[in-house]
Amino acid sequence: MNLPTFRGGIHPPESKSQTEKKEIEVISPKGELVYPMSQHLGVPCSPIVKKGDRVLVGQKIADADAFVSAPILSSVSGTVVEIGMRMTVSGAFENCVVVENDHKFEHGGALEPHRDFKSLEPPELVKIIREAGIVGMGGATFPTHVKLSPPPDKRIRWIIINGAECEPFLNCDNRLMIEHPEPVIGGLEICLRLFPEAEGIIAIENNKPEAIRRIDNELSEHSGNIRVMPHRVKYPQGAEKMLIYTVTGQEIPPGALPSEVGCLVLNVSTVAHIWNAVIDGMPVLDRIISVVGDAVASPKNILAPLGTSVRELIETAGGFTEEPVKVLSGGPMMGISMRSLDVPIVKGTSGILALTARSAQSFAESACIRCGRCIDACPMGLLPSSLDRSVRRRDYAAFEADGGMNCIECGSCTYVCPARRHLTQSCRDGKAGVMSERRKLKEKGQAA
Ligand code: SF4
Ligand code: SF4
Repeated sequence: MNLPTFRGGIHPPESKSQTEKKEIEVISPKGELVYPMSQHLGVPCSPIVKKGDRVLVGQKIADADAFVSAPILSSVSGTVVEIGMRMTVSGAFENCVVVENDHKFEHGGALEPHRDFKSLEPPELVKIIREAGIVGMGGATFPTHVKLSPPPDKRIRWIIINGAECEPFLNCDNRLMIEHPEPVIGGLEICLRLFPEAEGIIAIENNKPEAIRRIDNELSEHSGNIRVMPHRVKYPQGAEKMLIYTVTGQEIPPGALPSEVGCLVLNVSTVAHIWNAVIDGMPVLDRIISVVGDAVASPKNILAPLGTSVRELIETAGGFTEEPVKVLSGGPMMGISMRSLDVPIVKGTSGILALTARSAQSFAESACIRCGRCIDACPMGLLPSSLDRSVRRRDYAAFEADGGMNCIECGSCTYVCPARRHLTQSCRDGKAGVMSERRKLKEKGQAA
């Protein structure tokens, strides 16, 4: 079958077999829960509790006044034992609320269940989604209530549910669709109530036949404007721009939002959380995480309360068979290398990947041989080798002029480069360099 796809991209080994058939295992954390104040794109939250306070499951413990932000809620009941700087998965230190779990799991959230969501007006639905702390659970962590509030002049024609999960090793979205298709479809129905002219499309890579079948079967119980669209397996199919091109054939202009071309893209886990929040009054308290890699004794898909430590997840997965040389938060393509296991999982943590020296090979860079493979692989149509040269000369103006700010940091160029050049890292550095130049110019302008 000639399935739709996008231009460019790569075919890394899928490496999904460790956990694709493993049912989601629910864990109850033993130790303290740590909640960093920045678990989303946008303005970080500030604590609204203090040391010594007792908190309940679902109680808001941090929030911000800004529109582009999302509150943080306690995933356990217990006592706030600390508010202070702790290391996070990125290795940076952030202000965190630390709760000692009392293992009573007493609920005290402010959200009400609304079994009949059709009785709610769109602004009420958006408010519930905000209060539930829902963000892009695929890893982007953009606050969902903001995404669901596009400019009024934009007509939304497609709501695309991202079930691609193209990142190797990970199976959290796959297992969610297989085991719990109802909240995925129900969450999409709630979103369609906000945009009644839109069509709902659940886009799934063709290497997840069971998920496609389960969603399709469940859809037969529903009436409405929703369909499943299988697409070809290719990385980075789950990136927003690639998914929109695959589903609608449209390209998003540089710097524009999906609403510009009539689209909204939401991850499967995000819509499932929308369903939980609206129907059951249950905010974002936990998430599914694939704990995988050849260093993990018993790889699993784990539903863990937010704030649980990575060390506890590794212990749940049987510990290490041998000392890993690399532990990543996320998958091998876009994951972040971790410095410690004593850091908490957050809303955007989709996987923990622990690799031994056999699988985490690292090679020294050599000179570019101008083979052009990075150019063929780049799904954004960029020239990674040329961007790399600009960044190494610190010529951020050239980097920007060549479209470097459009890089989605997918890692495809680095993956195919025979000279092992750190092209994706160069793009990250280039983007940081441009932002720093912009800040300097702004400060100069303000000082003048
Ligand atoms: S330049 Fe950026 S978008 Fe293009 S392949 Fe490399 S990381 Fe991906
Ligand atoms: S893939 Fe590597 S060696 Fe080939 S052109 Fe790109 S940077 Fe140069």
